[in-house]
Amino acid sequence: MNDHHNHSGWLKPTRLRALTQWGLLAICLYLGIRFGLFVRHFETFGQTPAYARPPGVEGFLPIGALVSLKHWLVNGTIDPVHPAALVLFLTFLALAVLTKNSFCSWFCPVGTLSDGAWKATNKLLGRTFRLWKWLDLPLRGAKYLLLLFFVKLILVDMPAFALGEFLSSPYWAVADVRMLHFFTAPSALSLTIITILTLLSLIYRNFWCRYLCPYGALLGLLSLLSPLKVQRQQQHCIDCGRCTAVCPAQIEVHRKQIVRSVECTACLTCVANCPAPDALDLRLSYGRQLLPGWGFALLVVLIFTGGIGAGMLSGHWQSSLTTQDYQQLIPFASRFGH
Ligand code: SF4
Ligand code: SF4
Repeated sequence: MNDHHNHSGWLKPTRLRALTQWGLLAICLYLGIRFGLFVRHFETFGQTPAYARPPGVEGFLPIGALVSLKHWLVNGTIDPVHPAALVLFLTFLALAVLTKNSFCSWFCPVGTLSDGAWKATNKLLGRTFRLWKWLDLPLRGAKYLLLLFFVKLILVDMPAFALGEFLSSPYWAVADVRMLHFFTAPSALSLTIITILTLLSLIYRNFWCRYLCPYGALLGLLSLLSPLKVQRQQQHCIDCGRCTAVCPAQIEVHRKQIVRSVECTACLTCVANCPAPDALDLRLSYGRQLLPGWGFALLVVLIFTGGIGAGMLSGHWQSSLTTQDYQQLIPFASRFGH
């Protein structure tokens, strides 16, 4: 292991990443349960105890957040119904621009679960499956097509007045409740899709992330702007190919000098597994300054918490909906169509 980088013990970037990932997953579960209890209070017309609504659940509303972003840019006001959705969306965009697509590998709970499930299957079966190259490449384009669809639908086609209309509709008000129902009471169709994707993710590493996630596609494209990149120093590299072998994004790291790929999520698995001192590091593209793994971990956590903190301090975190609004909306959430 690459001891010269202080990669021993808990300062190993892969350990710090696992800590961040599983920590955030635990927080998401906690928020999900709290939100479930909050919703149940209204669904039972006050028969069950009341809980405070955790705004963090709005992180699961990225499409609405895109509408909210355009509304903010075009109309100049921040949506008060689900402001945390926009705050979290902007935080994740900032993460991508500054620290590559670190959201996917350091925070996203879907990525954490799918990678964990794949690792367990991989251990059990003792072998790795990869899609054929001829299928892998066009399939990787699918997530960009999905992204293009949402960008055209919302950023290009949606007129200014429609943005305000959407954001003040009952549908948007209960979008979080409907998202909860998607997980707690899925329809037969969503259950089938979730099952197929889960099975595929057990066999093929990060199937959803690699081929279908439009959020990851957006963050990957923005990550091209990031000044931080994994860089290989030819003179120190012993050409062992371990970096390439362990890369979850299947990037040929040992053939690159600078990893610029949109697929690189700055997971630092390659850096942590490189046996040659000073051969592989995360560095600034210009100036070539090195950032140790623990420094990167600190940076991503600071941006993440800083974005949320800025949203809270500027008053764009709690929803403007009142208890009366929830009493009128939540019990009938499934009736509000698209
Ligand atoms: S190149 Fe390195 S940091 Fe990027 S995805 Fe592959 S293993 Fe992770
Ligand atoms: S960068 Fe490190 S892991 Fe990759 S080929 Fe060179 S020595 Fe091996």
